[in-house]
Amino acid sequence: MSELYDVIVVGAGPGGLAAGLYGARAKLKIVVLEKELPGGQINKTGIIEDYPGFSSIDARELAQKMTDHAKEFGTEIKTTSATAVRKKGDIFEVDTPEGTLTAKVIILASGGSPNYLKCPGEMPYQTKGVSYCAICDGALPLFRNKPMAVVGGGDSALEEGMFLAKFASHIYVIHRRDEFRASQILVDRVKANPKMEMILDSAVDEIGGTDLVEWVKVRNLKTKAVKQLAVSGVFIYIGFTPNSDIVKDPLKKDEKGYIITNQNMETSIPGLFAIGDVRQQLTKQITNAVGDGTTAAVAAEKYIHGHLQRSPVGAGLQ
Ligand code: NAP
Repeated sequence: MSELYDVIVVGAGPGGLAAGLYGARAKLKIVVLEKELPGGQINKTGIIEDYPGFSSIDARELAQKMTDHAKEFGTEIKTTSATAVRKKGDIFEVDTPEGTLTAKVIILASGGSPNYLKCPGEMPYQTKGVSYCAICDGALPLFRNKPMAVVGGGDSALEEGMFLAKFASHIYVIHRRDEFRASQILVDRVKANPKMEMILDSAVDEIGGTDLVEWVKVRNLKTKAVKQLAVSGVFIYIGFTPNSDIVKDPLKKDEKGYIITNQNMETSIPGLFAIGDVRQQLTKQITNAVGDGTTAAVAAEKYIHGHLQRSPVGAGLQ
């Protein structure tokens, strides 16, 4: 068994890195575990325009700045995958492929994973034209000057669709309703983009082709009419599922699996805090995650020193 940490942060997205920074500045022995690149989901985005202080910044540059900042104050960042978290007495154990780590506090910043359409053709054509990351794949020669489809009506679908429009000949935005969940500014920009065409009230019935994606079959949910659109790529942005299953003890979550917290980011398990996209809240912004990480680190220090006034987490739990 390894030495005891004050805090193990699971996930090095903006929230986890902010928690690392604040924890290290409070002189806590803190480690942030990350299975991929520090920065988390923002590594899959292009330009960030809504982080205060930066009217426009490359997402990877922002991720690097956050990582360097946390490290500068003594945060340890470990590349490993946390596979299970459980509490034994007052101490938490975190399983990783390299062994079990222990801590007095866990800050869960594990984010979420993209949802699948689950239509015929989606799985077989993954890496052959079906993608969940325009930034990662959109500029590939496979897609250059070709028509493509984006599925979804949220901020991700519209933002990534506009990114794709830089390379594609045409973008179909396929959305199941005639109103968008995305912010109005994005809807207006998409409508003004001559390369982008809205296919509304429509569902994707099937994705097909030969070796690579060549078409998508779309059904109008009101008229039931089905049409086949010639596309070389289908980029799917229909939300995501929080990575909350890693906690093996009973934990209060909502029906979608988001962890319920109070204003201190405390969960129903004392000493386990949840921040960012894995917890139930109105928005999933970098700013939210950073704020959550700050609160959780401050609360964690108080918890370790026995000064945290625990307030109820969810109805009927305390
Ligand atoms: P989202 O807001 O949950 O939107 C998901 C979209 O997918 C919705 O339009 C939804 O349709 C549709 N959808 C869900 N399940 C579907 C299915 N089975 N078949 C077809 N369509 C389906 O997810 P998101 O766009 O990934 O955004 C997540 C969060 O991140 C949001 O809070 C968003 O504001 C934030 N975000 C912010 C930025 C930014 O500010 N720069 C960028 C990206 C994301 P309905 O609308 O009909 O439910």
